[in-house]
Amino acid sequence: MSGLEDLYREIILDHYRNPRLRGELPVPPAHRVEGFNPLCGDEIVLYLTVDDTGHLAEVKTAGQGCSISQSSASMMATAVAGCTVEEVRALTRAFKALMSIHESKLERDGSGTDTPTPDPEVDLGDLAAHQGVVRFPVRIKCATLSWNALTQGLDELGAPPSR
Ligand code: ZN
Repeated sequence: MSGLEDLYREIILDHYRNPRLRGELPVPPAHRVEGFNPLCGDEIVLYLTVDDTGHLAEVKTAGQGCSISQSSASMMATAVAGCTVEEVRALTRAFKALMSIHESKLERDGSGTDTPTPDPEVDLGDLAAHQGVVRFPVRIKCATLSWNALTQGLDELGAPPSR
């Protein structure tokens, strides 16, 4: 067990035990979107508000599930709150690329090279903590659940798609 893995586990447990931006927003004006991961029984509810300037002005999360899904929602909300929709899309791409790289590595036993590469401009910071879940492939869906719900929410809001 490397020091980095310990650190990552600490970050995940911290967000699980003390979830950030937890709660609800009045709908409307906020938009509500749900995500469900039947593989694990995880449930995520997101409340989003995008303001006139294209910023994700407010984010709140609710729901229940395993430590991976709930910590991922907490970390995601912290990372995207106040960002422009464009920045949110870029972060989502980077996070999902991180997950899919590992997913295809697992499938191909480390030989995969034609997988999406994370945008080097995007600093995932603490979000990278979830790369540890790749040792448990079934948990990848737990980690990406809140991000998929976020993308769905932005799409439903008619927020501009990524370039
Ligand atoms: Zn889960």
